[in-house]
Amino acid sequence: MTQISNEPSFRESVELMVDKAMTAMNLDAGTAQAIKSCNAVLQVQFPVKIRGKIEIFTGWRATHSTHRLPSKGGIRYAPYANQNEVEALAALMTYKCAIVDVPFGGSKGALVIDPNLYDRDELELITRRFTLELVRKGFLSPSTNVPAPDVGTGQREMAWIADTYKHLHPEDINYVACVTGKPVHHGGIQGRIEATGRGVQYAIREFFRHSEDVKKARMSGSLDGKTCIIQGLGNVGYHAAKFLSEEDGVKITAVIERDGVLISDDGIHIEDLFQHILEHGSIKNFPSARFDENGIAALEKECDILIPAALESQITLENAARINAKLIVEAANGPVTYGADEILNKKGTIIIPDAYANAGGVTVSYFEWIRNISHIRFGRMQKRHDELRGHNIASMVEEITGKTVSETLRNSITQGAEELDLVRSGLDDTMRLSYQQIRNTLENDENVHDLRTACYVTSISKIARSYLDIGVF
Ligand code: GLU
Repeated sequence: MTQISNEPSFRESVELMVDKAMTAMNLDAGTAQAIKSCNAVLQVQFPVKIRGKIEIFTGWRATHSTHRLPSKGGIRYAPYANQNEVEALAALMTYKCAIVDVPFGGSKGALVIDPNLYDRDELELITRRFTLELVRKGFLSPSTNVPAPDVGTGQREMAWIADTYKHLHPEDINYVACVTGKPVHHGGIQGRIEATGRGVQYAIREFFRHSEDVKKARMSGSLDGKTCIIQGLGNVGYHAAKFLSEEDGVKITAVIERDGVLISDDGIHIEDLFQHILEHGSIKNFPSARFDENGIAALEKECDILIPAALESQITLENAARINAKLIVEAANGPVTYGADEILNKKGTIIIPDAYANAGGVTVSYFEWIRNISHIRFGRMQKRHDELRGHNIASMVEEITGKTVSETLRNSITQGAEELDLVRSGLDDTMRLSYQQIRNTLENDENVHDLRTACYVTSISKIARSYLDIGVF
C-alpha cells in the first residue's frame, strides 16, 4: 500500500489515538507522559557466519512499560522491521495487557530478516545468537521480559529461545517461563497457537450478544449467515476465519493474500483453502472461487464484517472512504491508520480495535507463563476429582428419582476439564469481560464516541491508577 504524504506513520497513528483518549479523560500531562514514554530500547547488531560468509543482523527489543513485570510481547522477523515500529508495537502491548487484565508491562522485539531466505539450521543459529544478546543485556528473563511469537516467528523459534536461556541460566528454576508460545512438549500450553484467532472469534461473539451494538453497526440478528472478508490467512487470520465459518455460520466471501484475492459469494471453505496454500504456496487456482490479482481493492467490497489480519496501515486515507464493511475487527496490529479511523467513524463504520480484538494471544501467553512458574499443567489436580463428583451427582439423582440418567447427560456432567477446555474458558471469559468494560466506558463517558477511544480510556485508566497508587520511583 502506498503511503500518502499527509498520512502519519504507524507510530504516530498509535500516539494520536492514545492522545485522543487521554484528552477525553482529561489526564494530567505528567501521568500522560509517564504512560506514553517508552522505558527502554535495546538495539543489537551481531555477526553470524552463514554459508561461509559473515552476515550482520540488526534487532531491537523495546520495553514500553514496567509498571507490571514481566514486560510482554512478541518478537517479529521481518525484512522491513524498524525501531519506530517496534516502539509503537511495544506501546500497543502495554494497552493490550491492561485492557484484558493481564498483569504484564508492554514490550516488543524485531529482527531485520526475511526468514524465507534461510534454512532451519541457519535460523536456529541466528535465533540463538539474538537470544544471547537479549539475555546478556537484561532484555529477556522469566521475571522481567518475556517474548512470544509474532509475524515471522512461531513455536520453533520460541523453543530455541527457551533452550538458549536455559543454557545461560541453568540455576533459574523458572527458565521455561522466559518465553511463551512454545511447543506443548517444551512447556507450552494447549490452545496457544489458535489463541489470537480464537480471541477474535470470542470478541465478535460478544459484540453480537449486544443487540444495540449490532444495530449501531447497521446489522441485526446473530452471526449466522453474516458475510466476512478476511485479509491474511496467517496464523491469526486462518484460525479466526476457520472458527467463525465452521462454528458460527459466518460466510467467508473473500480471502485477501499477498498474491491477490479469492472471491466467492457462496463462501470459501477455509480448511480446504489452507491445505491448498500449503500444497501450492499460493491462493491461485483454488477451485470454486474467483481469483483477482488486485487484493487490496477487495478490502472495499461490501460485507458485514471485515477482518484485517495481516499487517499495519492497510486501511488508510486513500481507501477508507470506499470501505463498505459494517464492522471492522482489527485482528492485526494497527491495520487502520489514524486518518482512516476518523473517516470510518464519521461514516458510522464500527471498529473493534486491535488492543482488544487481538489480545487473545497475550491472554493465553499469560496462562502459559502461570503454568510454567507453577510447574503444573492446568487441570492435573482436579480433573479426576471433578469426574468422580459428577458420577456421584448422577448416581444421587438416580437414587432419589428412581430413574436412569441418560448416557449422554451422564457423560456431560462426569467429564473433567482438560487443559484446552480451561484455556478456552479463561479466554472466553476474558474477552467477554473486557468488551463489557469497553462498552461501559462508551456508554457512560460523554467524551467518548467510539470503541477504540473507549478501549484506550478503559486501559489507560487502569495503568494510570497503578501509577497513582504506587507513585513514580
Ligand atoms: N505477538 C502477540 C501480540 O502482538 C502476542 C504477544 C504475547 O503473547 O506476548 O499480541
